[in-house]
Amino acid sequence: MFKRLLYVGYNPVLMELDSYPFFQQADIRSINIIITSTFGQGNAPDGGIKVEEWLTSGKTNLNDDNKHADDSSVAHSSETASTMCSPLLWCSYAVCAIGSSAYPFYCGFGKLVDTKFEELGGKRLLPMGTCDALNQQLKSYNEWETLAVKTLRKAYPHACLRLEIDETVSANASRPDRGTFSNVEDQLIFNTSILSASISLEFYSDRKKRMAPAEHKGPFTRDKPFVATVLQNIELVTVQNILGDAAIESSKRFSANPQNQFQQSSISSIVRTITIDEQHSVRLLVFDTTGLSYSPGDHVCVLPENTLSNVNDFLLACGWKPDDERLDQSCSLASLTNGKYETIREILTQYIDLITTPQPHMLKLIASFASDPGEQRAILELGKGAQRYEDWKINAPSVKEMLNQFPSVKIPLDEIIQLQPRYYSISSSTRFNENQLHITVGVATYITPRGVIREGICSSYLQQTVPLLSLDGKKTDPSAAEKASKVKLFVLPNIHFRLPGSDKKSTNMPPTVNISEDLFVPLNSPLLMVAVGSGIAPFRSFWQELQMLQSLKGKSEIKIDRVLFMGCRTPNDFLYAKELESISCNTDNNENILTTVVPVYSRGTSAAKRYVQDAMFDYEALIYSIVKHENGFIYMCGSTRACQGVESALASIIENCSEDGITSEEAADFIKRLKENGKIKQDMFG
Ligand SMILES: Cc1cc2nc3c(=O)[nH]c(=O)nc-3n(C[C@H](O)[C@H](O)[C@H](O)COP(=O)(O)OP(=O)(O)OC[C@H]3O[C@@H](n4cnc5c(N)ncnc54)[C@H](O)[C@@H]3O)c2cc1C
Repeated sequence: MFKRLLYVGYNPVLMELDSYPFFQQADIRSINIIITSTFGQGNAPDGGIKVEEWLTSGKTNLNDDNKHADDSSVAHSSETASTMCSPLLWCSYAVCAIGSSAYPFYCGFGKLVDTKFEELGGKRLLPMGTCDALNQQLKSYNEWETLAVKTLRKAYPHACLRLEIDETVSANASRPDRGTFSNVEDQLIFNTSILSASISLEFYSDRKKRMAPAEHKGPFTRDKPFVATVLQNIELVTVQNILGDAAIESSKRFSANPQNQFQQSSISSIVRTITIDEQHSVRLLVFDTTGLSYSPGDHVCVLPENTLSNVNDFLLACGWKPDDERLDQSCSLASLTNGKYETIREILTQYIDLITTPQPHMLKLIASFASDPGEQRAILELGKGAQRYEDWKINAPSVKEMLNQFPSVKIPLDEIIQLQPRYYSISSSTRFNENQLHITVGVATYITPRGVIREGICSSYLQQTVPLLSLDGKKTDPSAAEKASKVKLFVLPNIHFRLPGSDKKSTNMPPTVNISEDLFVPLNSPLLMVAVGSGIAPFRSFWQELQMLQSLKGKSEIKIDRVLFMGCRTPNDFLYAKELESISCNTDNNENILTTVVPVYSRGTSAAKRYVQDAMFDYEALIYSIVKHENGFIYMCGSTRACQGVESALASIIENCSEDGITSEEAADFIKRLKENGKIKQDMFG
């Protein structure tokens, strides 16, 4: 959108939503185009949290804070009064919400912004766009963007400096004759002439501060991440050569039947994908995070890097020397990344996604860099995204493999997509593990139908990190500090999934005596926790925090129910089983931190599959008591589908156990209210 607005002659400024001063009254009309994802339960993503708070606080009117002070003063003119009550009168806006309809609060934050802005006097330029990850997301986005630019040009022709330039012509005209390139350097230099003069992608807010060289001083963000040393990298679940066997099986099937090479089958029917719910290696990563603060329940974002072998492969494929050749600082890629990277190796390692298969829209762009007309046609055909594309991506070709397949393509590096950070639920408490942050990582591994093993970018990067300490917590050798991997990360507060008392939405908290007693609110709160697969990750931060609080507070006479249901495939996948055993029995040190732990195996020894929601019915009375009588808190973590299953089981239990004989609609209503009051908290991924 930013590039497109530039092409048609506007002078846009790109910034985070929270950086824009919506809260202040403006004298001049301003046009705001807001493109946003949604997070958690219809909440703002990082970078929109302040605006969300402003819109939901009920204090959106500019005079809210000084209503009383103004009572004695002369009445405002009617114009000023209306501005005060409609603080966004100056604002024309358009919202595009990006999301996935797999989640219950689909595009929730975008919808909030769109409706609230109108209520506050903003002028909506066009209907809100919704782009669904499960339904042609990119197509929807492109359509919305085209409509938005058209509407803007119609509504504000005077704001457009180069009206006479046709949009498509201008976009093409900016690309000079491509010619041929022998290596990356040519591509970079070629690219300098196209883009650096016309586009400098800038974040308006605190740019200089964000781009400052990394220091260990917060706040830590994507642009200024915390650099954490890997202390330990422990395998919790091992894959016993399952991948090897499956890959051999899969390739045998294909070589046995040559027709399979050309089989026109839809990807979903034949891809053998090992997903988060299937058998895979799971690791506990322990980082040294001295100076970084977080709370149990928060997320950490990891900035992945491409592996050495992938970078070397890519350098060689481009005919570039595999040493640390310096990046031409005048090229557009250097200016795009604000001079953060000094060598081509650095930029290939940390900035460019060398693995993810290009999507159809990307292929259309790539086609324009093919000098061979036959290759160009073939790539354009793939870019149509139909069955041919599905068949091509069946083996998940990486960018490098695609370039090998179409050797006439010479693409500027800054047209290749960027590596994106990955979220992980924090699995530790700083009170329990001072100066450390732990995560539980399921290593994403896939086998294509032709037996090619593929790995998730970030989880395999983390899997391969070298720890400073051995399993018993000792330094491996004198040079360990030098060898230990450093991982860039930053924390994303997840206030909607914190322990009671540490979040902003919990109501009906257990009574506390004084401020210091507030610390122990989590200990006084009955908890029902339901985890599926890697969904156990945040609960480890909870039980560590509770352990620490309990050791600070000392023994208590009152028994508080704290129940954990853990859904996994087999006993082998029961993560942290030993730890859980030690905290769920009554010893001198641990007074039943968890009062009941129920592991549920979906592929256990019994013939029937059993999921957590099935097992919950065995504990109906206990669950009902926690939810209804003890005023407890319910936490769910895992895939969206699993959380939905747990939620409907909970509604059935409430209906079954209710003393007043309520209907299923009333039970569903009750669940809805619990969610609104912050009593049900969900952390969904996948
Ligand atoms: C809020 C939140 C919290 C999370 N917490 C955790 C956590 O605690 N622990 C955890 O393990 N994960 C967690 N995740 C998931 C995590 O962020 C990553 O998505 C996960 O580790 C995979 O990332 P990756 O880079 O390894 O894989 P990617 O490279 O991103 O690949 C992931 C997906 O891409 C597709 N894919 C990629 N390559 C192929 C291929 N070759 N063949 C077929 N399909 C392919 C698959 O659909 C796959 O699911 C969380 C996610 C969110 C949003």
